Amino acid sequence: MLRHVMVAGLALLLGGRLAAAAPASDPNRWVLMADIHIRANPATQAHGYNIAENLRMAVRAILSMEPRPAGLVVAGDCAYGRGEKADYRTLGELLEPLRKENVPFYLVPGNHDRRDLLREFLGETAATSPVPNKMAAMVRTPLANWFLLDSLEKTPDTPGVLDEAQCEWLARTLDANADKPALLVMHHHPGDPARPGCLKDTAKLFEIIRPRRQVKAWIFGHTHVWGVTQDAASGIHLINLPASGYVFKPENPCGWVEAVLKENGIRLEVHSVRPEHAKHGQVAELTWRAN
Ligand SMILES: [Zn+2]
Repeated sequence: MLRHVMVAGLALLLGGRLAAAAPASDPNRWVLMADIHIRANPATQAHGYNIAENLRMAVRAILSMEPRPAGLVVAGDCAYGRGEKADYRTLGELLEPLRKENVPFYLVPGNHDRRDLLREFLGETAATSPVPNKMAAMVRTPLANWFLLDSLEKTPDTPGVLDEAQCEWLARTLDANADKPALLVMHHHPGDPARPGCLKDTAKLFEIIRPRRQVKAWIFGHTHVWGVTQDAASGIHLINLPASGYVFKPENPCGWVEAVLKENGIRLEVHSVRPEHAKHGQVAELTWRAN
C-alpha cells in the first residue's frame, strides 16, 4: 500500500507498508544531513570515507532512535559530481529502509544535484512546486515550520541562487505563516557574492528574513564544515550542517545532526560516523530571537 503525503505543494511518496504497530515517532525530533553525495557505485570512497556506508549508518541510527524522529531533511548535494540518474538509483536503495518504515525524508537540491532527476526520484513535478522552476516547500511541525528552499543554479557550478520568484513565494508564505518559528533549509551558505560559492542573493534574502521576526534560523550545508554562528544584525542562527558523505579536513566531523525542536529554540547534537571524533556528541542549544 502506498501513501501520499501532501505538504504545501510537495508531494512526497512514502512507499511502504503501513505497519500494524508503527514505532512511536516524536514530531519535534528530526535528523538533519547535508552533502550526502551518493554515487552510483556504493563502494565509492572520497577523502578516506565510504560515502554510501555513511548514509547506511545514518539510516540505521534513525531507525534505532526511540522515539523515532519525525523525518530526515537533507540540505542538498544528494548526488555526486553532476548528479547522474544512477546516483539517485543508489540513493533510493540506501533510503529504502526509511521508506519501508514510513519515515519521511525531504531532499533539497544542491549544486551537485540535477533538479529534474531529483524531482523524478521524489515523484514530484514542476506542477507540484509552488515555484515552477524551483523545488520550494513548507513543512509544518507542531513547534516550527520548515521552509525547504532550492538554491541550485547550474549543476555542478559552486554558487547558488534562490531567484526572484522563489524569494517572492518565501516572503508571501512567511507572511501567511507568521504564527510559528520559521526555519529555512537550503544548500548554500550566506556570504558576499564577490567570494565564490555562496548564495548569490544573500543580501536579498536577508532583506526578506531579518524583519520577519518569525524566521529564527538559516540552515545550510555545502561547505562540508560543521558550525553555528549568528547573523549579528538580526540574531538569526546560521547553522552549517556537517557533510555526511566526506569532509576535506579532519577537524570537521563527518556525519549528521539530531535536532530537537523546542518552544523557544532547538537542540542540535552532532553524530559523527567516527565516534572517536572530538566533535562527536557536541551539542548546541540555541534560543530563538524574540518575535
Ligand atoms: Zn555543494
